Amino acid sequence: MLRKSGARVALLDCLDKTWSDIKWPVPKPYGHGHYPKVHLPKPSLLAHVPRNYSRYGLPLQAVRHALRSLNPPPDIVLITSIMTYWYPGVITAIRLVRETWPHVPIVLGGIYATLCSTHAQKLDVDLVIKGPLENKSNWGAFWRLLDISPPPLPENAGLSLALDLYPEPDFGIILGSRGCPFHCAYCASNKLFTKFCQKLPEDVFTETYTQYQKGARDFAFYDDALLIKPEKFLWPFLELLSKKNLRIRLHTPNAMHIRYLSLDVCLKLKKAGLTTIRLGLESADFQNRWDAKLTAEEWQRGIKNILQAGFKRENIAAYILFGLPEQKEEEIKLAIKKVKEWGIRPELAFYSPIPGSKLFSLAQKHCPYPLDEPLFQNNSIWPCVPGGFSWEKQKKWKEVIKG
Ligand code: SF4
Repeated sequence: MLRKSGARVALLDCLDKTWSDIKWPVPKPYGHGHYPKVHLPKPSLLAHVPRNYSRYGLPLQAVRHALRSLNPPPDIVLITSIMTYWYPGVITAIRLVRETWPHVPIVLGGIYATLCSTHAQKLDVDLVIKGPLENKSNWGAFWRLLDISPPPLPENAGLSLALDLYPEPDFGIILGSRGCPFHCAYCASNKLFTKFCQKLPEDVFTETYTQYQKGARDFAFYDDALLIKPEKFLWPFLELLSKKNLRIRLHTPNAMHIRYLSLDVCLKLKKAGLTTIRLGLESADFQNRWDAKLTAEEWQRGIKNILQAGFKRENIAAYILFGLPEQKEEEIKLAIKKVKEWGIRPELAFYSPIPGSKLFSLAQKHCPYPLDEPLFQNNSIWPCVPGGFSWEKQKKWKEVIKG
């Protein structure tokens, strides 16, 4: 959006390899994998948690050096944020920018800045953007910080990705929509994007092709609701891929909605090269769940259709929510059993209490920590599991999964 409005931009993604001389863990066959990490002293609030605390991504010195080498220096710096409980990383980024260019304004946006905006306001930044930059008030505030009257929003504001800024992606990403029409009580999708909105298939194809030309052969859909209104985005997009005869593998790490997996849909996805499948089962207690996205019949039908379409069982996993407030162990065990009955892999998705989600107040009631401190929203500490995380409990659940 800034480029289309006439700005020159430079991107520094601290989770991108960027420099070939920095050692990075070897990626897995589909391009995904681990990040380099350094252990850090735990924040005092987490001192009692029996886990390591680490910073992931590029070494600090490489980031510092890159910032210092930017010529000319920037007029403004935008920092994004992801998980709320990763805000100490945001503070480190702010410090690095401030020490490099003490007088350059800093704008903070992203997920943490949106969900915990009051907390974020206390950091050393000049503007906190709550919600998407293309929201009228955010767009105006951003430009006014530069003493420039806001230009009109560019076409497709908020919907195009500047993926050309990545020189050699190991894998590509595809985003055909933002938001999700469901309102699951444990999820923040609606807080981040209030409306479900789809992109033009032609635009997404161009983004995909740009990454393909740079060598990416594995592509992950990042959509929250990929299978909704497929006639508008997914089918025409896959048609474009097929016309161009691109030999790529597709993956859905963000779970797909099982209820939409008719045999016809599964066959189309198979033909298009879908390889890794993740499904949002969440719970097998269909009468008593925190969402309305799946019934027992839809689950059975969806799985049957996927298998009938010829997908390999080893490439299919179903997510099961773990650690919800008031959740009984039996519920999780039942879901694991139901998934294994089909010969596919259960994968536990550890619950994070997300401010603004419907379940947050119940989580506050059951969590021993004050959840308005984002550090305690960390799913690695199992904040709503009685007694919290322990290695013994983790071992036990691994054994339950193995069966
Ligand atoms: S959990 Fe999935 S289905 Fe539910 S609101 Fe979030 S993105 Fe949508």
